[in-house]
Amino acid sequence: MSASLTVSRVSKSYATRRGDVVALEDCSLHVEPGELHVIVGPSGCGKTTLLGAIAGFHDITEGEIRLDGELLCGTDVPQATPGADRVVVFQHCTLFPWRTVLDNVIYGPVVQGRLSRGDARELARERLRQAGLNGLEDRYPGELSSGTQRRVEIVRALVNEPRLLLLDEPFRGMDAITRGVMHEALLEFYDRAEATVLFITHDIEEAVFLGSRLSVMSARPGTVKATIEVDLPRPREITVRASARFGELETAVLREVQDEASRAFAVGDKEAA
Ligand code: ADP
Ligand code: MG
Repeated sequence: MSASLTVSRVSKSYATRRGDVVALEDCSLHVEPGELHVIVGPSGCGKTTLLGAIAGFHDITEGEIRLDGELLCGTDVPQATPGADRVVVFQHCTLFPWRTVLDNVIYGPVVQGRLSRGDARELARERLRQAGLNGLEDRYPGELSSGTQRRVEIVRALVNEPRLLLLDEPFRGMDAITRGVMHEALLEFYDRAEATVLFITHDIEEAVFLGSRLSVMSARPGTVKATIEVDLPRPREITVRASARFGELETAVLREVQDEASRAFAVGDKEAA
């Protein structure tokens, strides 16, 4: 079910009143089926732009993107068609505030006509239970903490059985303890779902802890400047963070990212902090 993703030489410019902003330039990336691939790069380098191009939120200017070899977008089709095969979880909450947790989770499969309401409810209850969210089915999103909302969103994303799960800094702004709980929950989802996951972050420790491989993006215009294999065992245990190898990987990524952040800072790009 999980798919491969190939991004080939993608460029993307935004037309603005002050001229074109080149967000991505000659950006290439390959994600294997079932991989948890992390993209790490400084703020403003084009991470969300890349994710938006894959999800079909906007067009690309050059290059092409393929899912399992099938063209999503390219020269003749500049914008991918959004679809349930690629589900996105953002930093901000996108749950419907007027629907209960259960009704949020069943929304996708019911609207797509993939499952009857009864079957969807059964599946949703099971998935919520696996995620330790049982008992919250009848709550409204506003009654939940941001960490719990994010877990519900990931459950909601996964009941759609996406071929690719796209996560855009989903745990940004959470305190360290909540983040730790979220990492554990995400890895549990991942180990069970065998989905292909593309996880975007500017946090290096998070990147190394979660990823199978990491792609480091350059400062804007964004391109992948290095891909690093994370040769840490799975399932990932929290104790791996104290290992020498973890520290080495963190330093290797830090070196790549810092080069870029300093370069962007030197040219006065205030967005890259
Ligand atoms: P990241 O997610 O890595 O922080 P983004 O992809 O959001 O970076 O943005 C990359 C660059 O493109 C930034 O300079 C940003 O200001 C610019 N940008 C993003 N979206 C738009 C838009 N809709 N119009 C114009 N410029 C944009
Ligand atoms: Mg972003």
